[in-house]
Amino acid sequence: MELVEIGTRGPARASRSRSRQARPARHLADLDAAGRRAAVAELGHPAYRADQLSRHYFGRLTDSAQEMTDLPASAREELVSALLPPLLTAEKELTCDRGMTRKTLWRAADGALVESVLMRYPERVTMCVSSQAGCGMACPFCATGQAGLTRNLSTAEIVCQVLNGARSLARAQIAGGPGRVSNVVFMGMGEPLANYAAVVGAVRRLSDPVPDGLGISQRAITVSTVGLVPAIRRLTAERLTCRLAVSLHAPDDELRDTLVPVNRRWQVAEVLDAAWEYAAATGRRVSIEYAMIRDINDQLWRAEALARLLSGRRVHVNLIPLNPTPGSKWTASDPDVADAFERCLADRGIPVTVRDTRGREIDGACGQLAALET
Ligand code: SAH
Repeated sequence: MELVEIGTRGPARASRSRSRQARPARHLADLDAAGRRAAVAELGHPAYRADQLSRHYFGRLTDSAQEMTDLPASAREELVSALLPPLLTAEKELTCDRGMTRKTLWRAADGALVESVLMRYPERVTMCVSSQAGCGMACPFCATGQAGLTRNLSTAEIVCQVLNGARSLARAQIAGGPGRVSNVVFMGMGEPLANYAAVVGAVRRLSDPVPDGLGISQRAITVSTVGLVPAIRRLTAERLTCRLAVSLHAPDDELRDTLVPVNRRWQVAEVLDAAWEYAAATGRRVSIEYAMIRDINDQLWRAEALARLLSGRRVHVNLIPLNPTPGSKWTASDPDVADAFERCLADRGIPVTVRDTRGREIDGACGQLAALET
């Protein structure tokens, strides 16, 4: 796909070229079933060992050689070190909401930092994962966008974030007792569609049934994008059933050019057309994300313009009160203004909800993930 350079800052570009040499090690979770069997065979072991390893990793959520007692002792260490290398190390964990929300700061082998957030609700557990270290999209209201892009994550580095949450839940290490990850949202750091192949690989690995993957329904996986039109089209052609979320934030190009700089390349109408094609191909409603920024994008005339754009479409609008980032001149819309905006959409028949701001106090809410070491 086309590489989007808009807004990529100098230092980010420098660190990106540096990290080109530091590709993350190959991992079982990077490979599909055939690839896993080939990798095991290359190491001189019978191909069925790949299924045993996969069962341990995706089914029992372990990568510890000692626990793999059905594998000959001589093969265990070799297979684990070749195919289950440690990719991410938890550097810091912060919890809030009485232990129901947990943010993890991860350090990759090359030092890159990313974050993921686990959010437990009465009826589901959602993991918010990062697809890139940093982000090159430069949206001025988003903490991740401020530092630029460090590098793409590999499929396995994305899967690892979810696997860790799944393991903590299975072992009852999260308040609320044993549980499982039911939903995944690509709303952590990074622009998922700018790391297309790794993200689609991760969707497959997360959704393939055990032992080939984690068995999470594609319908419960959301890929959120600034609107990289060629990549949305490519995703449509994959025939996945995951949900697409489009970070719109403004109904008019003039304002969206400033809030989501990539809009200068692909404008509102074109982004929405690609989204409707996705909805038609998958039968899924598209989520429209709209951060409510006081006196910037929260006027009623903009709600009306948004309603006109979305009317009659398979869509759901998520209004997200802006989480102010350090040093930002912007703040969240006044609650009365946000209510009026929501009512304006609802009155025009547009399904709309106001997103809760889980994890705000641990800087784990939308747009706050910055992987700062403090
Ligand atoms: N790059 C993807 C994923 C980003 S995070 C995308 O842009 O969709 C997921 C959502 O959080 C996006 O809609 C993003 O615009 C929004 N967001 C970013 N910063 C925010 C902030 N400070 N307050 C509220 N929402 C924010």
